[in-house]
Amino acid sequence: MVVIARLLLPAGRDPLAERFELREGGLEITQAELLGLVSGAAALVVDPSIPVDGELLDAAGDGLRVVANFAVGHDNIDLAACAERGVVATNTPGVLTEATAELALALTLAAARRMSDAERDLRDGRWTGWDPSAYRGLEVRGATVGVIGLGRIGRRYAELVRGMGADVVYTARSRKADADRELGARMMELSELLEASDVVSLHAPSSPETHRMIGAAELELIGPRGVFVNTSRGPLVDEDAVGAALESGALGAAGLDVYEKEPEVSSRLLQAPRATLLPHIGSATVTARDGMARTAAENVIAVLEGRDPPNRIA
Ligand code: NAP
Repeated sequence: MVVIARLLLPAGRDPLAERFELREGGLEITQAELLGLVSGAAALVVDPSIPVDGELLDAAGDGLRVVANFAVGHDNIDLAACAERGVVATNTPGVLTEATAELALALTLAAARRMSDAERDLRDGRWTGWDPSAYRGLEVRGATVGVIGLGRIGRRYAELVRGMGADVVYTARSRKADADRELGARMMELSELLEASDVVSLHAPSSPETHRMIGAAELELIGPRGVFVNTSRGPLVDEDAVGAALESGALGAAGLDVYEKEPEVSSRLLQAPRATLLPHIGSATVTARDGMARTAAENVIAVLEGRDPPNRIA
């Protein structure tokens, strides 16, 4: 039996339903209800809003063979707890790269051009006429764009801004010779990158090493004309500090898609000026979400049929 913790789109649900008995929790399921639902599962399909820990794995029981995450980021899954119990864990890399990189570009432009403030003013009747001094922002052409984490999504985002005429600098754990060569990108230490960049975009995974890697001091380095974008994960950033830096003018603008305690968002951030805030929609295109559903199902089917899954992470 396969348990879908919340909801799996037909591109993934249909191939699973053809082969296995399904049990589905729905979008409103609580963690307590899930503990009951998973009992006896051979496979469990989860999304980033579902923490998978020892308690949930034990509630599923000894028959559990695979946990398939409907996401590339897997900070919701305790991989060590999976490994200890001999449970395979999988994710959905690649199929959401384009969608997420494009959303990071959209947030870059929205924040750089103060689009949220401008639209709010127009809708609320505060637009009194063309004003040459209003909403002056930053052009991507000629800007230095700092990419933190030059992996699949970071690399694609770097290509997009490079195509618009930006200079690309980056941090990663290892040098990316192909990006240096093909994009003229330069690797830097984090603090050097923050000082050098007009735009900083986060694409590293959530981990103990990246936890709150961007706080008040780092935002100050990005500076009063700088743009900060986060489409990776909320825990990399001190959200209140972003709100405070926007309020004080220490930071130019921000475009955020992810938050520390989703779906809660810091009230300081909600009230801050020059911020474009989206509800975790990085992968929300038809192509990416169908691809993620299909990939999650392929991983489940492979493990339950005794084959190596295409996207094993534990
Ligand atoms: P990826 O290919 O694994 O790339 C991650 C990059 O981060 C790699 O270049 C890695 O460096 C770098 N990195 C790891 N630890 C780092 C550290 N401590 N400091 C600096 N860089 C570090 O992953 P991806 O597919 O691009 O996805 C990236 C993240 O995006 C995911 O983990 C997920 O959280 C997030 N995401 C969000 C959405 C959304 O809806 N907003 C959608 C998809 C993904 P090395 O290459 O040197 O190891």
